[in-house]
Amino acid sequence: MSLSTVFQKLRSAIQGKPQALHCNVCDQAVEAFGSLPEFFRTHLREAGWPYPFEQSETCNVDAYLCPHCNASDRDRLFALYLQEFILRRGNTPLRLLDFAPSHPLKKWLIRYANSTNLDLIYRSADLFAEEVDDKVDLMDMNIYREGQFEAFLCSHVLEHVVDDRKALSEIFRVLQPGGVAVLLVPILLGLKEIDEDPTVTDPNERWRRFGQDDHVRLYSKAGFMERIREAGFQLLDLGVKHFGRKAFLRHGITAQSVLYVAVKPKRP
Ligand SMILES: [Zn+2]
Repeated sequence: MSLSTVFQKLRSAIQGKPQALHCNVCDQAVEAFGSLPEFFRTHLREAGWPYPFEQSETCNVDAYLCPHCNASDRDRLFALYLQEFILRRGNTPLRLLDFAPSHPLKKWLIRYANSTNLDLIYRSADLFAEEVDDKVDLMDMNIYREGQFEAFLCSHVLEHVVDDRKALSEIFRVLQPGGVAVLLVPILLGLKEIDEDPTVTDPNERWRRFGQDDHVRLYSKAGFMERIREAGFQLLDLGVKHFGRKAFLRHGITAQSVLYVAVKPKRP
């Protein structure tokens, strides 16, 4: 049974009728979320990707993109978390670094901060993109001082980085004690350990082993969690139990999706 079918059946079982879908990033009703672009499926198929799509932890292949704002399911998951994070903190100023920003999520974040009178000090960063505040390597962020930020957003970046341990230690350094890094990477459920090899440069082989031609590893769940903890973080893995089944269904997020929130301890 495909994820989409499970999703539809679960929705009907709970509601007795299809639940209205909604995009929390653009705050609009959605008739149907668009599927993962065919480009990815074709590349993976042609490269000989050996895993079923159902084993991707946080990826709603059949209900991926918002038709209004292009937010992905992981953007919608980030927005769910950030909304509760901001509400919990109240009006305390928030210094946030958004690494490799998603444009729909960035727009939402700034709009949401304005609507809640949050004093948001927002910076965006990327090694390659032009339209960011800082061009910086995740493995060497010496332009930021220790403890400069209370929050760090990093979605689908670590799988591109040659030394992800170094990147995680840099994220740890630039956060204040008590600060949070909200992290996502592609995780393949069922994979026993991280499959990685930065020396593999053949694009087809990278598609086959790591799921994209600019990825240098494919994460197992346990391996990803271990690396976050190794960097010194306490780790929350927030899934359907935390956000609720209704919220996941409404926002087109699969029941097995998980958001990783790494907290820098207040005391070492
Ligand atoms: Zn949207």
